[in-house]
Formats: sequence, C-alpha cells, structure tokens
Amino acid sequence: MQPTSPKTGWFPIVLRMEDAHVLVIGGGNVAANKVQLLVQTGARIEVLSSDLCDELRILAEKKEIAHQALDVTAADVRVRLPHCRLVYIATNDKALNRSLATLCLEANVPVCSVDDPGFSSFITPALSIRGEVQIAVSTGGAAPVLARRLRARIEELLPAGLNKLAAFMQNARLPLRDKLPDPSERRRVWESFLDGKGQKLALEGKTEQATQELNRLTEGHRQQGEVWLVGAGPGDPDLLTLAALRLMQDADTVLYDNLVSPDILNYVRRDAERVFVGKQRNHHTLPQQDINAELIRRAKAGERVLRLKGGDPFIFGRGGEEMEALVDAGVSFRIIPGISAANGCAAYAGIPLTHRDCAQACLFLTGHARADGTLELAWEKIALHGQTVVIYMGLNALPSLCQQLQAHGLPADWPAALIEHGTTPRQRVFTGTLSSLPETSVTHKVTSPTLVIIGEVVRHRVVPLHP
Ligand code: SAH
Repeated sequence: MQPTSPKTGWFPIVLRMEDAHVLVIGGGNVAANKVQLLVQTGARIEVLSSDLCDELRILAEKKEIAHQALDVTAADVRVRLPHCRLVYIATNDKALNRSLATLCLEANVPVCSVDDPGFSSFITPALSIRGEVQIAVSTGGAAPVLARRLRARIEELLPAGLNKLAAFMQNARLPLRDKLPDPSERRRVWESFLDGKGQKLALEGKTEQATQELNRLTEGHRQQGEVWLVGAGPGDPDLLTLAALRLMQDADTVLYDNLVSPDILNYVRRDAERVFVGKQRNHHTLPQQDINAELIRRAKAGERVLRLKGGDPFIFGRGGEEMEALVDAGVSFRIIPGISAANGCAAYAGIPLTHRDCAQACLFLTGHARADGTLELAWEKIALHGQTVVIYMGLNALPSLCQQLQAHGLPADWPAALIEHGTTPRQRVFTGTLSSLPETSVTHKVTSPTLVIIGEVVRHRVVPLHP
C-alpha cells in the first residue's frame, strides 16, 4: 500500500447564512464574540441563556437576536435541532457544553463547542471581513493565537476600501467576459487594473473613472510584456517589500541568481517558470548580455518577466546595464528597490553604519579583484578616519584590502567585521581589526556571500534580538 499523507480533518467552506436559524447557547462574552460575527451575516440568531452580558442585552433590545431566558436543558436543544443550521455552545459549564454538543453531533447538526475542538464538528476561523472579501485563517483549532497573528499580517496587506473594489470587480466581470473571451487575457487586464491606477479609483469608490480605466486597458490590450527589476533583499524573506511580493505573485517568468534563496523563491507564483541565471561553483554563469537578451526576448513574446536580484538591483547588481538594454530594445520595465546587503547585514549584526560619534560618511565599495588578486581603488579616499567602508564581494581580496588600508594610513588595530550569510539563519559575524581579520576569515572558513564592514562603528556593535 502507498503511504498516505496525514489527514488534517478540517475543510474550509463558505456557508450561506441569510435567514438561517443559528442557536447560541450561553450568554457571556464568548457567546457575544460569536454573535457579533453572526449578526453581520443576516442569520436568525436565538440565544438560550439564563442571563445575558451587556453586549448581548443590547442586541436583544434592538431585536437583532432572539433571547430565551432559561437554564438550558437537553430537551430545549433537542426540540430546536431539526431547524438549526449551526449551533454554538459557550456556557461556562464544560460538562454541560459537552453533553449538549454530543446531542448535536448525534443529530448531525454542525456544532461548535467553543474552545473544545474534540466536541465540535466545525470551528470558527480568525476572520477578516471587507464586504464580499472575506479572509479566514484556521489552524484547525491547534493554535488560535497563531491564526490571529497570521490574520493581522494579512490585514496589513489589505487596502482600505477593499469592499468597494470587490463590488466594482463583481459588476464589471460579466461585461468584460463578453469583450475578452480568453480567460488568460482577462486575468492580465485585471492584473494591470489592480497594479495601475484602476485599483485606487475603485478603492475610493470612483466607479465611473474606474470603468473608463478598465475600458482603456481592455481596448488597448495587446500581448505586451514587461520586465520587472526587483530587489529581493539580502536573504531573510521578511525583508521583501510589499511591491516585490506583489510582482512575485504576478510574474509569468522569474530569472534569478544565486543570491536569491529558496526561501524567497517560495513566494513566487507557483506556476511561474523559474530560470536560474546566476553564478554558482560548477555552474555556468549566463554572461550579462545573454541575460539581457533573454529578458528582452521573453518580454517581446508577451511575458511579464521578473528579474529577481539579491539585495538592491542598483547596488552592485548590474541593474543599470539591464535597464539600459531594455530601454534600447523599447521594452517597458519597472524597478523595485530592495534592502541592500549593507543595510540588512549591518542591522542584523547590530552595527550602526553611521554613528554620530565616529562616522560622518559611509562608502559602499566593490572588492571584486582583478585576476591577479589585486585591487585598484582610490585608497587615499578610502583609508580615512570618520567614515565607514562597506565592501561587497570583498572576501577573496580581503588580505590585499586590509594591507592597502594600512599602507595608506589606517592603524593596524582599526576595527573591522565580516558578516557571512547575513540576515539568514546561517548568519555568522566576526569582528576584529585590519591586521587580524584575514586570518580570522581563514580560521573560520568564511565563505561567500560575505560583507566586510570597516570603521570605528564596529566598536559600537550591540547584538540585537532577531527581528
Ligand atoms: N545587489 C546586492 C549586491 C550584489 S554583489 C545588494 O544590494 O546587496 C554580491 C555581494 O553582496 C556578495 O559578495 C556579498 O559581499 C554581498 N552580499 C549579498 N548578500 C549578502 C548576505 N546575505 N550576507 C553577506 N553579504 C552579502
């Protein structure tokens, strides 16, 4: 027999509740929480309880709920069960809750015995409701606090006015289907609408202008591709921008390099094509002009191509060259900045890149060495007091780098740090001096990607909690 995957036991559905009879047993705050959710659905709510908390009493006075003042017995529940769509049980007598829940389970009426998943046939997820848009997060009763935390994170992504936007899209859906029968074309029009000014207009309830924008996109619709140069940050997916996340969800194709971790690629739309173009030992690197050509070829074929880069595309990321090639080829593009290794690694290592006491400037350098291992840099501008020097790609040339800085006037005990795999779970930080760091790097077998930070700010390092 094939081994089967573990069963979750729960299945999310959306129930129609208008005019449905819902029985709520219990009159305290827990019951009130559920009733507050239910009244919004148009259900007919009957509360059985000897007394009511203030919130429920007000609802009863307003006739939003029907209240039967009684000490609930099995008989009270049994006579109602044939008419009930759902039953909530929330008295503070757990044994009573369980015995009443058992009645419901035996009668096959969906029941939620609050905080007792073992005696419930359904559970209430953490809900976020904006008109027709409803988002439910459930952990199958395993971790309600986690569900609420996830809901809060999702809510941060939801713009105000979402109900108006959903209503607009609902009304425009059928007319658009007549104009554009191909579902993938419709999807593109909607995505352009949501990415452009249409979404804002609809969110603000400016229906007429939103309709004009939708018509414009529908009529002007050609199989037009685009390239998105997007910074993915230094490693921790928490450091992605909301814009990066949105485009990762929309892209048809993703061209990424080795600085983009699998954890980040996880956020790319599942059915997007993934093309690795980066450097890696024992792998061929696609030369830059071939990457440019590939971006252009795909965009011209109508794809929305995400060029996902570690850190920021314009900081030692060759984003400038790609942008110029796209301009020359007449391909539309967008650029989304990312947190660069310097900001990300410094923050996670607790090194303030500029500190009032000792650094009035911060220099970003490439330490990419020539074939003979030497570096050609304006040393007299780099080997200065009062500034921080951050070196990207500086690991191989580290001995030469430290030696040159000393030769040009910095002391041998000038502070310096290495941050390896910054912001990821593999992050290692080594602090030392210009004279000690090259050896530290060998002793600890430090590997790429590693960022070098040089300057007195390293002395101000305080190890922070993980964000
Ligand atoms: N565009 C990128 C930099 C690309 S150059 C950015 O803005 O961050 C590649 C170099 O960046 C690496 O050699 C290393 O020095 C640095 N780097 C990138 N990610 C890093 C990380 N997570 N930890 C340490 N250094 C990193």
